[in-house]
Formats: sequence, C-alpha cells, structure tokens
Amino acid sequence: MNNAIYPGSFDPITYGHIDIIERCSNIYDHLIVGVIQSNSPKKMLFNENERKNMIKTSISHLNNVEVKIFNTLLVDFASQEKCSIIIRGLRVLSDFEYEFKMALMNRNLNEKITTLFMMPHEKYTHVSSSLLKEVIYLGGNIDNYAPKEVIDNINKKINGK
Ligand code: ADP
Repeated sequence: MNNAIYPGSFDPITYGHIDIIERCSNIYDHLIVGVIQSNSPKKMLFNENERKNMIKTSISHLNNVEVKIFNTLLVDFASQEKCSIIIRGLRVLSDFEYEFKMALMNRNLNEKITTLFMMPHEKYTHVSSSLLKEVIYLGGNIDNYAPKEVIDNINKKINGK
C-alpha cells in the first residue's frame, strides 16, 4: 500500500488544506490526516475533537482518507501508521524556512521517512487558518476560503453567534 500522512493543527480546516488533501487522495492509496493534539506554542481555538470532526465532515466525499489525532513525535506517528511519506503544503516563500528545518529534523529523527511538499491552487496560496480567524473576528467575509460549517463554528467561538 502506498500511504501518506498529512499532519497539521487544522485550527480549523480551510479550502487550502482541502485542496492538498484532494491532491493526495488522487496520488496515494490511503491518506491519513494527522491532527496534532496540542502544539504548545500555539494557542488553539478548537480542541482536537472539534478539529477532527470538521475535517471529517469536509472530506466525506473522499473514501481513501482517514482522520486521526496524534500527540507524539510526527515520525513516530508515521512509523506507527506504516507510512514513509509526510506531506506538507507550501504556500509562500515564508513557509519555506520553517518547513525546511522541520523536514531535515524529521529526516534526522528517522531517515526512512521522507517529507514531500505540495502547492495548492493559487487561489489558496494566501489562506491560513489564523488569517481566516482574524478576518472573521473583524467581521469580514471568508465564504470563498472555508466550508460553511467551519465558518459557522468559528463565528460561534469568536463572536458567540
Ligand atoms: P501546522 O501548525 O502544522 O503548520 P497548519 O494547519 O497551519 O498546521 O498547516 C498544516 C499544513 O497545511 C502545513 O504544511 C501548511 O503549510 C499547509 N497549509 C496550510 N494552509 C494551506 C493552504 N492555504 N494551502 C496549502 N497548504 C496549506
């Protein structure tokens, strides 16, 4: 089986993430979307189960994708799931430095696991979960960037409506 893992915080999932998941689903037999349980420097808006459920609803049209929560080293999670490929998205140049360091660190931790990068459609290259939360907080419209259920959930959390 040709498996891959797409890990992240997904706080919450956006059309940029979904674009990458759809591309992977076409390439790999099986894709695991790995939801990081806690990522201490980052304060999450949604808990891991909320993030997982929003992903599951958003990708229900894909039958070779599974969503799992993990709270270990990424390479250990990948080995446990018998995956040798980690997928990360690259949007803009500013992603590069962080991703480069993480990929090399992960390779040093386990050289059997390879990180591959994928670019989303250009209409999503400026989209991030944190930017969408900020726009909603300030009353802007993000209908083109995340599923309706996700937008409703952000509104409930941030604006209490
Ligand atoms: P993390 O905290 O691990 O960076 P994110 O949920 O922010 O978690 O991102 C998970 C992965 O998805 C990362 O590889 C990130 O670069 C990628 N990603 C995020 N937004 C987009 C987007 N709009 N287009 C493509 N990839 C994206």
